[in-house]
Amino acid sequence: MFKALLLDNSTGKLQVSIAALDDAALPDEEVTVRVAYSTINYKDALAITGSGPIVRQFPMVPGIDLAGEVESSRHPAFKPGDKVLLNGHGVGERHWGGLAQRARVSAAWLQKLPDGLTARDAMAIGTAGYTAMLCVLALERHGVAPGSGEVLVTGANGGVGSFAIGILSALGHTVVASTGRTESAERLKALGAASVVHRSSLGEAGKPLQKERWAAVVDSVGSHTLANACAQTRYGGAVAACGMAQGLDFPASVAPFILRGVALLGVDSVQAPRALREQTWSRLARVGPALVEGIAREIGLAEVPAAADRLLKGGIAGRLVVDVN
Ligand code: NDP
Repeated sequence: MFKALLLDNSTGKLQVSIAALDDAALPDEEVTVRVAYSTINYKDALAITGSGPIVRQFPMVPGIDLAGEVESSRHPAFKPGDKVLLNGHGVGERHWGGLAQRARVSAAWLQKLPDGLTARDAMAIGTAGYTAMLCVLALERHGVAPGSGEVLVTGANGGVGSFAIGILSALGHTVVASTGRTESAERLKALGAASVVHRSSLGEAGKPLQKERWAAVVDSVGSHTLANACAQTRYGGAVAACGMAQGLDFPASVAPFILRGVALLGVDSVQAPRALREQTWSRLARVGPALVEGIAREIGLAEVPAAADRLLKGGIAGRLVVDVN
């Protein structure tokens, strides 16, 4: 038997419980993992509170991320005792996920924990930190280098934003953090932000072209914030767009793209190919552990439903790592 957070809607209303399940209830997949840690991402919070159409079938064990140890495997790539991590691939949406003491998953979705990263650190980083690093890699491919100029990070107190600040600053970039919670400016500066702006300066409809400021942007907010960030990006700069905390819309004009050669770089974490995943996690193994202490705090499985609610209400700064045991 093992404990799992379980989402059910058999009564027509979302029910969230900590259930004791038998191993026989696990899906028929290749690798059984003893989960050590999981985490709560924005998407998990939407699923657990029923605030967004994340879960594709019920009952569902949520949790788009997990890390732990292989218990048994029908696939030659993994053997008992291997330390592994999984993020994305529809786990916690279409397949049972990580907010449980056991998971049974396809070998194609799993990867070995990179050297230098513990299971706890990997989950403190989680999809949010991984997405921040995907954004940084996208900017690097575009030629953005330390010394290029100020890099704007929006949604700064969130999981993606906190890691983006920490990673960019560790790499030597000058980071400007945009947040609605300017009272936490000291926290953002401790993470590496050189300065902090209030998100209201970006959050409403603005002109198609504005004063050029940013060499690059990591945006997890979308909507007007993304449109204004593009309009303020310097000639030839790049904007990595990965989120929609303000909205899915993009009320912008093409002016920054056709008159300033600004590049809009889309970033997806769920289906990123294996080679990119391994590159990203290996970069995270180098810079991530030093950032974890200042960004993540630990909670237990029973605390997850209330924490998910708080996360969507903007009540969590940084990340939550979940000890499922
Ligand atoms: P969090 O909830 O941890 O952070 C979101 C942050 O966005 C908040 O902390 C807040 O920052 C800011 N924010 C919230 N509401 C608004 C608003 N109305 N207007 C402006 N800013 C707002 O979420 P994550 O960091 O985990 O995820 C951020 C976004 O990235 C989400 O939309 C998520 O779905 C997306 N995402 C996408 C991925 C992909 O594969 N493309 C992967 C991971 C996440 P502050 O308090 O500092 O203002």
